[in-house]
Amino acid sequence: MKIDSVCVRGARDLNDRTGAVAVPIYQSATFAHPGVGASTGYDYARVQNPTREPLERLVAALENGRECAAFASGMAAMDALMWLVPPGSRMLATSDLYGGSVRLFNELAERAGLKVDYVDTNDQELLKASLGPDVKAVFVETPSNPMMNVTDLEAVRRTVGPDILVIVDNTFLTPCLMRPLDLGADIVLHSGTKYLGGHNDTLSGFIVTNCPERAERLRHITKTVGTGLSPFDSFLVIRGLKTLHLRIERAQATAMEAALWLKVHPKVREVRYPGLPEHPGHEVSKRQASGFGAMISFAVDSAATAVKALERVRFILYAESLGGVETLITYPFLQTHADVAPEKREALGITDRLLRLSVGVEAAEDILADLSQALG
Ligand SMILES: *Cc1c(COP(=O)(O)O)cnc(C)c1O
Repeated sequence: MKIDSVCVRGARDLNDRTGAVAVPIYQSATFAHPGVGASTGYDYARVQNPTREPLERLVAALENGRECAAFASGMAAMDALMWLVPPGSRMLATSDLYGGSVRLFNELAERAGLKVDYVDTNDQELLKASLGPDVKAVFVETPSNPMMNVTDLEAVRRTVGPDILVIVDNTFLTPCLMRPLDLGADIVLHSGTKYLGGHNDTLSGFIVTNCPERAERLRHITKTVGTGLSPFDSFLVIRGLKTLHLRIERAQATAMEAALWLKVHPKVREVRYPGLPEHPGHEVSKRQASGFGAMISFAVDSAATAVKALERVRFILYAESLGGVETLITYPFLQTHADVAPEKREALGITDRLLRLSVGVEAAEDILADLSQALG
């Protein structure tokens, strides 16, 4: 099946005797055993449940991976990831990451025996110089949040060699636009709260891998810690995924239109969108992805303009998240990246003039009209 068909049909159980077209919600915490030492394949819902399982199969298929584990949130998936890197080792990570990932790495990872250093993962010289015998993993977010910096994944694999784990947060592009495992990554991570679920109605997280031992370890973690996705939330993500290919296509078409519109607006100083030919990651994006996504960051002329725009938006919602059908605007400085140290924030370009737009699937005219009145 082509990926569009996998989105729509990939979760359905072909052996289901009821003919149910949708995967049912198996709201059962425990499962009766047919005999001593025998199992239906399900024992206790923390370990696995029959709604989460087809979703995991679906996301693995979308990413062209063998195995997937679904978690209660993207951060629960990130936390599980820390257990896959040997204690006492170091991990290199893209310098501007999702703020929650930075909080996790800085506050919890070290206690779990993992040290995280931040580098520009697209600067191969720098990446190479940052390697050492204790570096066991590289964590890449591309395009990064919120600066939309693009990392060349095949170049990273070449730089670090075969023995270092390459982990990619593919939340921004989704498997419909980029499949990191095909580009040499070992592990793909998702906040399914964003595009995969797509409707701003549920949290979820995913880890996909081709390595059976790593997948087994992840299952052991969800079984032990209880961070697996619930049956109802699994159902919602399965439903959301049925339209992923349509939503992403529409959203990125409007994003391109919005990026061009913003570029010539008198109060806009800089537009960061990989779809623009002047974006430094434009060529790499064209090579490793089949689209540029629907996230745009832009800097306006002053903090006052930024704050006024956030207060004036009526159609676009001022809210922290991305990837849903509704267009959202975010102020990374005060929201997603408030916990990043001020000097670091400044160095990365996360200023009080930067806004981040997650373009939804409403009419482009309504989105642009609202931006126009909000920017004044
Ligand atoms: C939102 C997000 C996360 C965290 O996921 P949650 O589902 O909110 O826990 C991680 N990485 C990226 C890139 C995100 O956008």
